Formats: sequence, C-alpha cells, structure tokens
Amino acid sequence: MHVTVDQDRCCSSGQCVLTLPAVFDQSEEDGLVLLLQDRPDPALLPGLQTAAALCPGGAITVHAAPVEGSRA
Ligand code: SF4
Repeated sequence: MHVTVDQDRCCSSGQCVLTLPAVFDQSEEDGLVLLLQDRPDPALLPGLQTAAALCPGGAITVHAAPVEGSRA
C-alpha cells in the first residue's frame, strides 16, 4: 500500500493534515499538501481512506498492493 498526492488538485484546505498529521503536512509558503511518508504503516489505512474521501480536491489516492509473501 502506498499513497500519492496531486498538488495540482490540492486546494489547500488542510483537511488531510487535520485527519492524519503523521502522513500529511502543508507547505508554509502556499498551503499545498506535503506527503511526509508515501508508504505509511498499514494500520493507518482507515485514516488514509478517510483523508482521501474528505479531500475536497480529490488529490489523495491510496494505492492497494498485494501483501508480499502472502503465499509463503
Ligand atoms: S485535504 Fe486535499 S485539498 Fe485539502 S490540503 Fe489535503 S490534499 Fe489538499
């Protein structure tokens, strides 16, 4: 699982920072989203999904990935 943000779609609302400050921050210059970590702990997935759903610009995408070693 990893996360990407599209600064071209970000409208600097700050909602993501309020939802998950461990992963998202905002630029002090223009307020655009900054991604602090692109492969956060899977335990943060619910918060990431909430942040993505609440983002007014649709700028946050959570990418699911297969679990490594799942066939071992
Ligand atoms: S919630 Fe979306 S629009 Fe608001 S700062 Fe975060 S990425 Fe940007």
